[in-house]
Amino acid sequence: MMIVMKKGATQQDIDHIVKKLETVGAKAHISKGKYKTIIGAIGDREAIIKLPFEAFPGVETAIPILKPYKLVSREFKEEDSVISIEGLEIGGDNFTVIAGPCSVENEEQIINTAIKVKEYGAALLRGGAFKPRTSPYSFQGLGEEGLKMLALARDETGLPIVTEVLDVRDTELVTEYADVLQIGARNMQNFLLLSEAGKTNKPVLLKRGFSCTIEELLMAAEYIVKEGNSQVILCERGIRTFESATRNTFDISAIPIIKNLSHLPVIGDPSHSSGHKELIKPISLAALAAGAHGVMIEVHPNPEEALCDGPQSLHPDEFMEMMAELESVLKALNKNLVRIK
Ligand code: PEP
Ligand code: MN
Repeated sequence: MMIVMKKGATQQDIDHIVKKLETVGAKAHISKGKYKTIIGAIGDREAIIKLPFEAFPGVETAIPILKPYKLVSREFKEEDSVISIEGLEIGGDNFTVIAGPCSVENEEQIINTAIKVKEYGAALLRGGAFKPRTSPYSFQGLGEEGLKMLALARDETGLPIVTEVLDVRDTELVTEYADVLQIGARNMQNFLLLSEAGKTNKPVLLKRGFSCTIEELLMAAEYIVKEGNSQVILCERGIRTFESATRNTFDISAIPIIKNLSHLPVIGDPSHSSGHKELIKPISLAALAAGAHGVMIEVHPNPEEALCDGPQSLHPDEFMEMMAELESVLKALNKNLVRIK
């Protein structure tokens, strides 16, 4: 249920509704928009629906939300959510580039990459310390050592860091270092991990599972927001199809569909969706044209030697070239490239 308050509704009117919801064991999620406050009622639907909200002072209307996700829906919040990370704003008319290697390999690699991607226009640094590898014999990441190296790269450049949390047991540790917690495709429906990330105060980059629908992605995001953390950025990273020319198929239509259904920012990941570095530029440009709020790109100082995902990683010079093209399209679309000062 979504309770839309009148323009002049008072705090007392809002508190009154929150209390009423509590009497039936429900929770209130309050969203204060530019003009109106909307209260999302979360709990036993049957009990909530019996409350005569429209008779309460300050209430304009009460609308049942029939979708399986509520707090992340456009119905709940009409305006785009803008997520603030260390002064950088992701969402709205801003376009953000996140770049860095698939995995942190050593100090020199991550610091050099950070310096280069910052110079060429990335606003955040990515790098995995805990890696979800399909084979148990592949490089699994450096763990806490990798997180420490990411922190050094942040100190050196000022770039906030995005890194994956793979397991509920590591949430506290990763939260200590990360500016943005990434939840990867393989964990998109790890509901315990989603709830745990929802209890932190860090923005979460939630990647779409490669066999998951858009609706399932939004329900996964709801798990995080329901716990009180509304700072979620969604990421289209390709889905499994019959096509074998690419690692996965970048679902370009997911971008406008998600923007229609949800107020959360959405970015694209051309590296993991395509698996080929030649496809990173065209997919990035396509994502931008489709309305994405950013892209996340794998960049490695020596892709040939990368311990993970070399074939889909750009060399810094190739990244520079791509950024130049991206910037000219951004200009034409009147969008701002988010840059760190
Ligand atoms: C990643 O971004 O490092 C990653 C493993 O991606 P995905 O979860 O999309 O496979
Ligand atoms: Mn990777």
